[in-house]
Amino acid sequence: MDSKEPILLKSLGELKLAIVGTTANLTKDEQRVMKQEITIVLKKYPTDTIIISGGAKGVDTIALEIAKDIGFKTLEYKPEKEIWEFYKKRNLQIAKDCDELYCFSIGVKKIKCYHHNPPQKHEKTAGCWTLKKAKQMNKRCTLIILTITT
Ligand SMILES: [Zn+2]
Repeated sequence: MDSKEPILLKSLGELKLAIVGTTANLTKDEQRVMKQEITIVLKKYPTDTIIISGGAKGVDTIALEIAKDIGFKTLEYKPEKEIWEFYKKRNLQIAKDCDELYCFSIGVKKIKCYHHNPPQKHEKTAGCWTLKKAKQMNKRCTLIILTITT
């Protein structure tokens, strides 16, 4: 039988934007620059965009704080348990539910993030794993690596 799934057209205003990234402890300068960059990205979107994140420390928390301040609706996807199996499930959910995804990390001198082939010189983050999955689902993904020179 040749039955086709009905195509659901998304109405404007239902765009879900995921912001994920490093959970590393950030210095004051790194936090400041991270906040600036996330704000720049968020301000490009209409305020009826829904901002989703994983509720972890670092980028997740910073992004949702800024999003709420600007007036976005936010959704936090917390893992049921604090173990990889559930983080993985949560990260996949974010990849599935978002329409677009940004992953933010901090540049480092040594190669640290092995979620890429070849691995890259930035703080390792499961956000890059989520980005990889979202990319496979044809979502628009952007990786932003901040380098802070002091
Ligand atoms: Zn990475």
